[in-house]
Amino acid sequence: MANSQVTMESHHSSMFESVLARLDAAAKLMNLSEDVAKVLRKPLKEVIVSLPVMMDNGKVEVFQGYRTVHSTTLGPSKGGIRFAMDVCTDEVNALAAWMSFKCAVAHLPYGGAKGGVKCDPRKMSVGELERMTRAYTKAMADIFGVNKDIPAPDMGTSGREMAWLLDEYNKIKGEDCPGVVTGKPIVLGGSLGRDAATGRGVMISVLEALKKLNLDPKKVSAAVQGFGNVGAHAARLIAEQGIKIVAISDHTAAFHNENGIDIKAALDFAANNGKVLKGFKGGTEISNEDLLTCKCDVLIPAAIQNVITEEIAPRIHAKLIVEGANGPTTPEADHILKEKKIIVVPDILANGGGVTVSYFEWVQNKYGHYWTEEEVNHKHDLSMKTAFNNVWNAADEFKTTMRIGAYIAALRKIEQGVKFKGNY
Ligand code: GLU
Repeated sequence: MANSQVTMESHHSSMFESVLARLDAAAKLMNLSEDVAKVLRKPLKEVIVSLPVMMDNGKVEVFQGYRTVHSTTLGPSKGGIRFAMDVCTDEVNALAAWMSFKCAVAHLPYGGAKGGVKCDPRKMSVGELERMTRAYTKAMADIFGVNKDIPAPDMGTSGREMAWLLDEYNKIKGEDCPGVVTGKPIVLGGSLGRDAATGRGVMISVLEALKKLNLDPKKVSAAVQGFGNVGAHAARLIAEQGIKIVAISDHTAAFHNENGIDIKAALDFAANNGKVLKGFKGGTEISNEDLLTCKCDVLIPAAIQNVITEEIAPRIHAKLIVEGANGPTTPEADHILKEKKIIVVPDILANGGGVTVSYFEWVQNKYGHYWTEEEVNHKHDLSMKTAFNNVWNAADEFKTTMRIGAYIAALRKIEQGVKFKGNY
């Protein structure tokens, strides 16, 4: 119930306008070249395709597929593919722009892109999903490329879909191109550590922020919204650091336990319960709104966009928000959180661990040589810590929030790239 309200709110304002609001604020503070700002305010390429798919009932369904390339200044465009009902041009464009900034913040040699198919994957059979993924790949075969545009998983997709995508792409090209997609199963050239990477990056962001706030993780509590690839790994890794998780949720239910939720028990429960938390007994059932406003030190929105709104923001108790999801906070809520002196580690920094290990996967594919999980995690942690401190320093230098600091850090790099390339 609470979740469906949240989803409705996400349609009220344009997500791409949220990106532009932050871009403009950062551009003004740092005095970004007007030409560069003008270019970044428009995606480079927006592709929309119709995907006829034979459904199990013998009838054809036509799905709408999207891919937006926002920027290629710093390298080939990179970004996931989402299967969800609210996929549309505005959402895909916003997510593509965020990928450009996220890759720049993480110092990856990539531009930004995003794609998706408007569908409800929970209502489709495995066969239908495979046919749809293959149809999408065929339609986008000229957009994708190892050194051109590299997809990955996002909401509603995983290694399974990336394997279908790779197989279809290889058939079209007549050769094996593992580097054309990341987030693949390990046996097909995926990287160890990729699955947990976004959650791991959230964990590093939490620890770095607690250091700045002089807080001991062992004395801190956290609430995590979302129990998918990002939220579940984040909750597990954060709990391993001694942080007490007092609330968790997914799209079916939310739970609270002030003595701390046993995350391993929750993971086991979900694994044996069709991957959902509904019916979990390790806490009292609460609403999603209660989760966001519960008493805790750290709030981790790791589900969907636009959940921290101007209605919710005044009631948030946490001192620190670490954004595992893309776009969980609206620009209006940003102002309220700033006034309340709540520190927000923004999405384009906090959830950059996923694309960072995607980059490692791509490098390993190019080399044809594979690293151990320890090597991957070590490189990931170093990279996230560097990115965190860069953003922290940019925020400090410009006396602004970490969100605007992150945009400034990203825009500085992209501006330099544009200048060196000398276009226009
Ligand atoms: N979909 C993820 C994100 O939003 C990962 C993208 C990637 O690995 O390319 O950051």
